[in-house]
Amino acid sequence: MANPEQTLLESKLAALKQSYLATLESELLALYNDLSEAIAHNQEEPAALAHTLEDIHRRLHKIAGSAGTFGFQAVGQQVRTLEVTLQSWLEASHVLPPFTKLSAFVQQLWELQREVSPGALPQAHTLAEESAITSVTIIWLVEEDVELGNRILEQLNNFSYTVRLFTTVKDANHAASKEIPDVVIIDAGMEFANLSVACPLLFISDQDTFEARVRAAQLNAHGYFLKPLNIPQLVNRLEQLLHDREAPPARILIVDDDYQLAMYYQLVLEAAGMEVRILEQPEHIIEQMSVFRPELLLMDVHMPAYNGPDLAAVVRQYEEWGSLPIVFLSAETDLNKQIDALSHGADDFLTKPISAAQLVASVRARVARARTLSALLNKDSLTGLLKHASIKSATINEVARAYRQNYPVIVAMMDIDNFKTVNDTHGHAVGDVVIASVATLLRQRLRQTDLIGRYGGEEFLMVLPHCGAQDGWKRLENIREYFSRLRFRQGDIEFSCTLSAGMICSTDVSEEKRENLLVAADEALYRAKRGGRNKVCY
Ligand code: GH3
Ligand code: MG
Ligand code: MG
Repeated sequence: MANPEQTLLESKLAALKQSYLATLESELLALYNDLSEAIAHNQEEPAALAHTLEDIHRRLHKIAGSAGTFGFQAVGQQVRTLEVTLQSWLEASHVLPPFTKLSAFVQQLWELQREVSPGALPQAHTLAEESAITSVTIIWLVEEDVELGNRILEQLNNFSYTVRLFTTVKDANHAASKEIPDVVIIDAGMEFANLSVACPLLFISDQDTFEARVRAAQLNAHGYFLKPLNIPQLVNRLEQLLHDREAPPARILIVDDDYQLAMYYQLVLEAAGMEVRILEQPEHIIEQMSVFRPELLLMDVHMPAYNGPDLAAVVRQYEEWGSLPIVFLSAETDLNKQIDALSHGADDFLTKPISAAQLVASVRARVARARTLSALLNKDSLTGLLKHASIKSATINEVARAYRQNYPVIVAMMDIDNFKTVNDTHGHAVGDVVIASVATLLRQRLRQTDLIGRYGGEEFLMVLPHCGAQDGWKRLENIREYFSRLRFRQGDIEFSCTLSAGMICSTDVSEEKRENLLVAADEALYRAKRGGRNKVCY
């Protein structure tokens, strides 16, 4: 499929490769000239010659790392051989290699330089293909026990998913010609080997054996849930899966003194849907990071002014960047140096040259892992929302930013009405379903940029940036109204709940109250409760 963006990218990449080729050609020629000259003039001066050899080594090292990345694998490998030879000479002793060896080395450089002609074409790279993103959410449940299936279906319907129940794999396969679900939940006991639906699978099972779990893993299951099902937990996983598809692009900061190489990484990662910046001044790394908020740092090891491990160590001095993945991209083949870099706070090493597909896959996997870990740390397990401390500090930061940049922000507090009665009447587990459904509703009805947290047991705190009082009130009112119409089912019993909310808009408070938007929102919530509940006050 020739999509215009892809074509534009391919042509940008081709241009970048051509310009790299020119650089490569002239650098190899320069290396040949510099070395020949040094040998001719410095025969009598071993120190000067040694100095030139060190410089040549450094330059070869750089080419060894970049050539393969741009598709010139053969050249890269030959340069690597030269680099290793030179390194062994430099490390062996302070005695320089004999003239015959040196001239053979120069000869190899000359031949290599001749090989790289402007006509040389790099081997083609394939870019990771992005699958289309759809917006409708359909869940299929494949369960042969009709009664159980219907019960699960009912509960999932509470979370406003469109769920279809199939009692045989054959029926599901038949429907697959008309509709592609977003997620399939299937009973692990069924003969599903021939299920032909291309979407994430979740397994439900009444058996917890290692074999069954391995089988699920081999079928690429995204989750394995034991019966009786913990519905909020299942919904959490569903939300995660659905959310992953709509997840904001990964933000990557590249630190590499080789600008051509950095641009290449940028193009490749951007083509895979990521947001990428190149750091131009290492001394401004922390400022850049606080503006761009990268989720991963891709860093070269050897740089002229400040080297990679030092920069990584500086980043680690800041508490907020303590768990940011730092990945070194280096032509380094020396294991000890890699270990040394890792001990300075880096998480991982990718060895240059690296193919486009490898780079995208490695970066994507690490960002996904980091997101999962951060979710575990900062998010509440029942609702998947930010925990008390996280939402509180996020609120303070967001309100401060809103005042600094002069845009309106809403702070809102929400609480389920008479929730104690729900627990007392239907049990704690059903209460949990109600709490989780409020969370799902908030996520579905608020924007990606809004912050939502579980402030307490059945209390939620939200921050809506770039939102005026009227607009904010309408959104909350819409959520309140929708929630009051939700029907929760517990066997034969059906019930509904309501919620109350209080909000405040940053533009509506006097100067001295700016610090206390949270208190103001809480007071508004209290008014809603006193005013009879099932209300939004401000
Ligand atoms: P009001 O309308 O005034 O808010 O009344 P309420 O009953 O909702 O308020 P109250 O604060 O008295 O009760 C909240 C209840 O929420 C008490 C507590 O047991 C319950 N709760 C807190 N966390 C959880 C939870 O994680 N799961 C469940 N099921 N219940 C919870
Ligand atoms: Mg309550
Ligand atoms: Mg409460």
